[in-house]
Amino acid sequence: MTAPAKNQVIVLQPGYSHEDENDETAMRANCTCTLIRCRDGQNIIVDTMTAWDGDLLQSLLRHQGLEVEDIHVVVCTHGHSDHIGCNYLFKKARIHMVGACASNRDLYFDHLSSGDINEKKQLDTNGEVVVKRTPGHTLSCVSVIVQSTQLGGTVGIAGDLFERREDVEDDSIWRNAGSEDENSQRVERSKMGLLCDHIVPGHGPMFSLTTEMRVKLKRDAELS
Ligand SMILES: [Zn+2]
Repeated sequence: MTAPAKNQVIVLQPGYSHEDENDETAMRANCTCTLIRCRDGQNIIVDTMTAWDGDLLQSLLRHQGLEVEDIHVVVCTHGHSDHIGCNYLFKKARIHMVGACASNRDLYFDHLSSGDINEKKQLDTNGEVVVKRTPGHTLSCVSVIVQSTQLGGTVGIAGDLFERREDVEDDSIWRNAGSEDENSQRVERSKMGLLCDHIVPGHGPMFSLTTEMRVKLKRDAELS
């Protein structure tokens, strides 16, 4: 299979999160699952849904002409069960990252451990696809930043740093989804807003950032 001319970011399945219809004390949630087809020929999957989604995920990949063996890298933005459930499918991947923790089988790598919040781990050979820490929702959260995409800009696959587009206007959405450090999350949201043209949030479809959204994110960060 030939590699694409630009890095392709493909949302395989947009995530969701909402109150359960029958039990107002319970939530229904599944993550946004994203495929990156790098122009160096590597395929990266970001967030693998729940453990019950194996058949679905394999069929979504087949729609892209891929099998589970064609995935080179697995990144889970954090360790919650709806973001890691199908990691087991990708036994040929050279690296599984769960938050900032990187492994292959029983071998654990020393990645993103410098203590520098801006340290980046390069995933492709061109240096256009990197992982960095974006703590907030959990302290170990990471985002994948993809430059030179088919969309004509930079895409941040941000996990639950952003719950969905509406949480830029209404910050109760991401705060109610749980945050281990709200101040850090505000700062990282604003940094990602400046770095990226488009965001893939943890539980909704991809969205584009407007100037007004960046201003709002910056103002929120300055208040924290
Ligand atoms: Zn989540």
